[in-house]
Amino acid sequence: MEERLSNLKKFEDEVYRCMKCGFCMYFCPVYRETYQEPYVARGRNVLAMDLLEGESFDWRHLEKRYSMCLTCNRCAQFCPAKVDVATITLAARADIVQEKGLPLWKKVLYRGLINRRGLFGRVLKGASRFQRLLPRTQGKIRHLPTFLSGLGKGRQIPEIAERFLRERLPEVSSPPEGVERRMRVAYFAGCGTDYIFPEVGVKLVDFLTRQGVEVVFPKDQGCCGMPVMGSGDFALARELADRNVAIFEKLDVDYIVTACATCGSAMKEGYLTFLADTEERRRRYEEFAKRVKDFNEFVIDILKPPPEAFSTELPEGTKVTYHDPCHLVRYQKITAQPRAIIKALPGVEFVEMAEPDRCCGMGGAFNIEHYELSKQIAQRKMDAIADTRADVVVTACPGCMIQLIDQTIQRGMPQRVMHVVELLK
Ligand code: SF4
Ligand code: SF4
Repeated sequence: MEERLSNLKKFEDEVYRCMKCGFCMYFCPVYRETYQEPYVARGRNVLAMDLLEGESFDWRHLEKRYSMCLTCNRCAQFCPAKVDVATITLAARADIVQEKGLPLWKKVLYRGLINRRGLFGRVLKGASRFQRLLPRTQGKIRHLPTFLSGLGKGRQIPEIAERFLRERLPEVSSPPEGVERRMRVAYFAGCGTDYIFPEVGVKLVDFLTRQGVEVVFPKDQGCCGMPVMGSGDFALARELADRNVAIFEKLDVDYIVTACATCGSAMKEGYLTFLADTEERRRRYEEFAKRVKDFNEFVIDILKPPPEAFSTELPEGTKVTYHDPCHLVRYQKITAQPRAIIKALPGVEFVEMAEPDRCCGMGGAFNIEHYELSKQIAQRKMDAIADTRADVVVTACPGCMIQLIDQTIQRGMPQRVMHVVELLK
């Protein structure tokens, strides 16, 4: 049995760095909608101090307080003391899970499905067949029929792919004939790309192979573990991390490329920060993390293809705007590279939206647990997108894509939501 609050104690210094100045109130998307001190970084840091000083609380109350954070770390960006609020939030969630376990729906989803890749795939395949009975709007989106709409709260759900990425890609994709092999990388897809947006993975492999990169796609790869880690189940997240690291570390590749901002940040620093509980794990996670690269970073900083490599099927004059995923802009400090790719596309006009790095309100399980608030938070983002009058809103995280698709459709906006990779011919 782990010591009570053992995770929070590890980040005690982080908690006590908070000067209680309240700057975070101006930048926190949750606070800007709720105006409630318990739901902003300062309020939760004071709570964490009280907990560390031995005050007792109702665990259910704590669960609610710590669930009301998107872990977007926008507050940390502007915090004068640079308090890493998302790290404190995850540590507190882990202590809560240690004390009272996961809620039932998360237990079923994480321990029953995500942890069993074969079964998870079969369940999603069944869901994919069932969804064909549902009415379809805007190409790929299914309405939940009226009798389920209460449950769906008007959600516009992207369709589960009929053929998952792992059914579409070979284990190894080599450069086409006549193209010299420059590099060999492994591709980590993540659940969103594998099951919902497989065309992103297909395009990624197509683009990289044409640039002389051989791409290895291990089919036994699993979930990166971020949803599980974000919910505080560090024990299961560790199992998932260990499994992925074991699969990728034995591959003879130069880099591990992912086009999911969330997976990238989990693999680059999440495993090390939260899951490295032994020297052996620390060493292996570190070695693994060194080779992980986000697609945008890999293309612009490492691959550096010639200008003619960037072409698109978008019609001449298409206006494109870009939304920075929190897990890319703040967790990985990647902002210029996706913009460089967009700007390199001939005939495409790039237009910056206001506050492009403001969270879209997705926040993983936050969107499920606090959907109405998640929608409210998204409104500012959607207004910023609408103001650009762009034809396409591009991002680099399947999680953000799900939120942006849902919100553009609900608001009847004309913008098409795409991944950076999808812009490339
Ligand atoms: S988290 Fe940072 S910005 Fe917020 S109250 Fe503490 S020191 Fe101030
Ligand atoms: S991480 Fe985001 S949601 Fe959480 S307190 Fe900071 S700004 Fe608010």
